[in-house]
Parts: sequence; C-alpha cells; structure tokens
Amino acid sequence: MVGSVLTQNTAWANVEKAIANLKQRGLLDLDRLAAMPPSRLATIIRPAGFFRLKARRLLSVLRWLRSRSGFPGVLGMPTETLRHELLACNGVGPETADSILLYALNRPVFVVDSYTRRILFRYGLLQGDENYPAIQSWFHRCLGPNVELYNEFHALFVRLAKKHCRARAMCQGCPLS
Ligand code: SF4
Repeated sequence: MVGSVLTQNTAWANVEKAIANLKQRGLLDLDRLAAMPPSRLATIIRPAGFFRLKARRLLSVLRWLRSRSGFPGVLGMPTETLRHELLACNGVGPETADSILLYALNRPVFVVDSYTRRILFRYGLLQGDENYPAIQSWFHRCLGPNVELYNEFHALFVRLAKKHCRARAMCQGCPLS
C-alpha cells in the first residue's frame, strides 16, 4: 500500500530506497506511520521524489485505513466501497486505488497504467483515446475476475515496457513481435 503511493511518477528502484528507510526505522507499522508529522515522514521518504506531496498523500491513505480499523476492518468491505473511499483520499487516482485493491487487498481489479496503454496501442488493440474505465472494463470482460491473473498480467506489462516496449520500442526479441 505504501509502495502504491510512493511509486507515483517515480521508478520503483527509488521507492525501494524509501521503503528501506521506513523499514530501518521500524516504521512499516500502521499506527506509527499514520501518527508521523508530515515533515518528518517527507524526510524519510525523500528518495521516492515529490516527497512532501507523497508524505501528505500517504498519510491520507493511512489515516483512512486506520479510520476503518486497519486491514482487519477493510477485509470484509465490498470492493466498490473500498475503491470509492480510496479515491476520496488525497492524491489517490484510479491507478493508485486499483494497485492497492489488487496488490494489497487481493481484489480482482485490473490496474491500467501508462505501460499498459502504450503496449496495447502499439499492438493495435487501442485507438489511443480510450479512458481508464473503458480499458479496465475491457480487461475485466476478456479475462474474468481473477486476482492471480491480473496480478501477473500487470507485472508482465511492466516488464515488457521496461525491457522492450520502451519509449523507443526495441522490437527485436520482444515476445509480442
Ligand atoms: S516492443 Fe514489442 S509490444 Fe512494443 S511495439 Fe515492438 S513488438 Fe510491439
């Protein structure tokens, strides 16, 4: 959940450094983290970039989670309600909310990111002007609700976009070529 917020507009390697800083200080704990002053949290997560903004966003999500009595409290909540409440947190858009739903809460919600769009557009499956809900519904219709499959599918899109379908496509050796 922390990673989903910190990874906004940042490479994952930088997020890992920020999470390592939190771990080192024993701060990957809901109550301790949610109680932190924003300025102190910002200093610790600095490697993730946009650290002041992300500190505020992270605290917003953590305080929401605490208001729901933490993970035990949200486990039984309907996915649509969770998504609605996550989207109401500061700085949480559909991609962040859905990453939390899929990767932290095991809900069958497909995550659409810029890599997904790029690959599908180049592969000829998107026109390029489809919005987030349209792309997500297409995956939901084609794949059916399946947490493990969505989890792996998104991870493979990320990997493909980093290895081959980069800003400048490196098609040689790409499995989709
Ligand atoms: S890198 Fe692969 S997915 Fe991207 S345009 Fe080339 S063949 Fe298509």
